[in-house]
Amino acid sequence: MTVHTGRHFLQIPGPTNVPDRVLRAMDMPTMDHRGPEFAVLGFEVMAAIQRVYRTKQPVIIYPSSGTGAWEAAIVNTLQPGDKVLMCETGQFAVLWRGIAEKFKLDVDFIPGDWRHGADLEQVEARLSADKAHKIKAVMIVHNETSTGCVTYPQEVRKILDNVKHPALLMVDTISGLGSLEYEHDAWGIDVSVAGSQKGLMLPPGLGFNAISEKALAVAKANPAMRSYWDWHEVIAINKAGTWPYTPATNLLMGLKEAVKMLEEEGLENVFARHKRHSAATRAALKAWGLETQCQEQGAHSPALTGVVMPEGHDADQFRKVVLESFDMSLGTGLNKVKGKMFRIGHLGHFNDLMLMGTLAGVEMGFDLAKVPHRAGGVNAAMDVLKKRDGAMAPKAAVA
Ligand code: PLP
Repeated sequence: MTVHTGRHFLQIPGPTNVPDRVLRAMDMPTMDHRGPEFAVLGFEVMAAIQRVYRTKQPVIIYPSSGTGAWEAAIVNTLQPGDKVLMCETGQFAVLWRGIAEKFKLDVDFIPGDWRHGADLEQVEARLSADKAHKIKAVMIVHNETSTGCVTYPQEVRKILDNVKHPALLMVDTISGLGSLEYEHDAWGIDVSVAGSQKGLMLPPGLGFNAISEKALAVAKANPAMRSYWDWHEVIAINKAGTWPYTPATNLLMGLKEAVKMLEEEGLENVFARHKRHSAATRAALKAWGLETQCQEQGAHSPALTGVVMPEGHDADQFRKVVLESFDMSLGTGLNKVKGKMFRIGHLGHFNDLMLMGTLAGVEMGFDLAKVPHRAGGVNAAMDVLKKRDGAMAPKAAVA
């Protein structure tokens, strides 16, 4: 086995690198989750995550992965037979459809080519044709982590409002929250699903549901079976600063520190940093002569970039060379794009030199794996990062 020195480069689009400060905050004895000390932490993290979501509404924090938080969104608001509208933006949309179908929802899945955001023209057409309001929810993946294409939830809200459709707007922002602009209240989102292991810079293990008043009312009237995921049970006990079951205490300690870090940098600066790294990565791809998986202008993800391999070259073979040679993990292509593309994560706790190390590892890997490309990607990215003024430069850090 090769012994690597220095830090492993974890450049998958989540789980992301956990800052040392967050690791230290979690490195604490477990505590009494019914005691007064815990309630202080409980209230702090509930308020902190509301600020990240930009909501005054309740945010449920589950000890779960993101998929659990999706299931929670579904079982609270919908019942078997309900019709829902989804868009095939990539693997995560496909997985969300799978869960919905297991709960016997009637899914209208608008097809997509995994290279664009959601087909909003089709969303509008389906919603305006639905005069009887049979569609109970529109479910969108904000940042499609399998492809690197963004769908803007505020655009979907505009459509719903324009056609005066009462369907709930449910958004998977599992890899969006904390990396891309997100406004749960201002954008009129009914349920926003997130997870801890992406822009929030924590290990996996927390799932989140931010909920509108309308979604809460729908849930109250919804007879569908649920227990662990029931919003109202959690909200009732949250009033005492704790949860109906044992919460993930040490992850909550980490969440408090992670939100503190995001707020010290300033969320706007965090979002600008991600956009800048995404632009530098795309400049590298352009110089290498390679395609981004996302082909929609304006929909390129600030959080990750999907790289399409030249015909006849296997992305996973390339990733293996990079892992063995440089101790760097790149994201695999999922499902129908497996082997055809790989993903570079540039989200979470990340900076310019980490990006340069990542892109240098990719460029050297191309040489070693004999993947046809032009030289100069790393230099092109450096040219973007060297610009310290104008729109691409990070704003002054918050004191
Ligand atoms: N949705 C998106 C956009 C994701 O990126 C992921 C995980 O990467 C999921 C859903 C599933 O989340 P989890 O693996 O935490 O269950």
